[in-house]
Amino acid sequence: MQREQLEFDVLFVGAGPANLAGAIHLKKLAQQNGREIEVAVIEKAESIGAHSLSGAVLDPRALRELLPDFRERDCPIEETDLRDAVFYLTAGGQFRLPYVPPYMHNEGCFIISLSKFCAWLGSIAEELGVNVFPGFAGVEALYDESGRRVIGVRTGDKGINKEGKPKSNFEPGVDLLAKVTVFGEGPKGSLIREVGNKLGIFTGRMPQVFETAIKEVIEIPASNPFLNAPFTVVHTFGYPLGLNTRGGGFLYRMKANRVSLGLVVGLDYEDALLEPYQEFLRFKKHPLIADIIGGGKVLQQGAKTLAAGGWYTLPQLAVDGAVFVGDSASMLNVQRLKGIHTAMKSGMLAAETILAAVTKDDVRASVLDDYRVRLEGSWIQGELYAARNFGQALSRKGVAKFIALGAQFVSGGRGFVDPMKISDDADSLKPGRGAPPPPVQDLDGQLYLDKLTGVYLSGTKHEEDQPCHLVIPDANLCVTRCWETFRSPCTRFCPGQVYEMDTTDEGLPRLKLNPSNCLHCKTCEIKDPFKNIIWTCPEGGGGPKYSIV
Ligand code: SF4
Repeated sequence: MQREQLEFDVLFVGAGPANLAGAIHLKKLAQQNGREIEVAVIEKAESIGAHSLSGAVLDPRALRELLPDFRERDCPIEETDLRDAVFYLTAGGQFRLPYVPPYMHNEGCFIISLSKFCAWLGSIAEELGVNVFPGFAGVEALYDESGRRVIGVRTGDKGINKEGKPKSNFEPGVDLLAKVTVFGEGPKGSLIREVGNKLGIFTGRMPQVFETAIKEVIEIPASNPFLNAPFTVVHTFGYPLGLNTRGGGFLYRMKANRVSLGLVVGLDYEDALLEPYQEFLRFKKHPLIADIIGGGKVLQQGAKTLAAGGWYTLPQLAVDGAVFVGDSASMLNVQRLKGIHTAMKSGMLAAETILAAVTKDDVRASVLDDYRVRLEGSWIQGELYAARNFGQALSRKGVAKFIALGAQFVSGGRGFVDPMKISDDADSLKPGRGAPPPPVQDLDGQLYLDKLTGVYLSGTKHEEDQPCHLVIPDANLCVTRCWETFRSPCTRFCPGQVYEMDTTDEGLPRLKLNPSNCLHCKTCEIKDPFKNIIWTCPEGGGGPKYSIV
């Protein structure tokens, strides 16, 4: 098939904060140095920001470095008055911690909507002359004849039917060629998986590990006392996850009587019957939260994973012709529950390296590795290294968690063992016995939603007549070993109700997929105990349409 080819100096794959900051920084640096440089950003979402979801408390450190005039440029900030409160929740009560650990202090930070923030960064990138292409999914990395140097990315074909045949609107994907390709696809990117497996960027590293966050933006009545509470940022631990499952809740005040509410669940959980979405509903029904959101209405819902492994799970950051940034490279600081600032800074450091490499016309890994050197000399290293064992300590059970955290606190992150071991999230499930706990009742479709209403409020849509983007290599395994051992955990850990157990006309069990509901969170590929789910990019433009989360 003849494919169109477009050539750029630098191609950024994914329009999250890391790549948008990288593209902006690169263009500005090039202008300062009197250099012309052709830069492109591709994004699988229909518009920039539509797949971006986060808490989100923004530490503006990287933003100030990138765009010192961000306030004059109307950066979309929801709240600047951040006052923290941390609560330990029991099933029916709460205890406010008298002391907020220093790493959880948020003075000087902002509450933002990541989808709005990315849309704003995208518009600045365009003003600077970056070619921004939303609706284009990178589906395959391209290599030179040696098979070792990345030379760009192929975008997905459009107009292919369920059987894999071209439809009347067929458009072949385009080969986007670049001297340097920057992979910033977010957590568990499908291209970084492919490049990583081929070029060994994860070899010898600890496995990348993740958490799944389910989040809503809720409009609450103007008379709600929370709008005048002495705190604007709430973090919780304890109920509903307990102390043996990593994770916790958050609630942030936003503009216009809105709050950002979410629950994060560590994907190293062991209970095969656990359902993160049901835990989220239980969290919402806890009296502390129910009082704050009472009388409210959910405006938008979404789900996303976050790369929570930190320093010891960073992959090799450069190969010939490519670098890896942001959550794709595990840059989130799980101790501070923040990753936007580190993602942005990683993109900016990559941009500085890339400009020098492109100027010298030498993009070998040995040259691009200067990005790692810059990173190790930057404040990212300081943050991530101090938190290098934090996530592992959080994964400890019961009080052992607090002992490990305390030891790290007094030893600058070292703790009793350094490095603490990290295990693959897919390996943690214990066999499921009996039935899952009864689901949360009294869902009203306004404030308390079932999964499908949540999917509707995420704006998720896909072209129906296209090949299923969720690849199950062994469908038989789903109804035999996976059901017998774990009671089909995909039907619970997926927040989009994509997986359902069904029966064939012959009465045999089968796994039914509803790929159109997919929120692109990647939980299934991470948590499937048999690694029998491979998430691939659906047709560009499909997926959630986040605008305020
Ligand atoms: Fe997330 Fe996978 Fe479900 Fe899609 S199918 S919503 S990626 S868990």
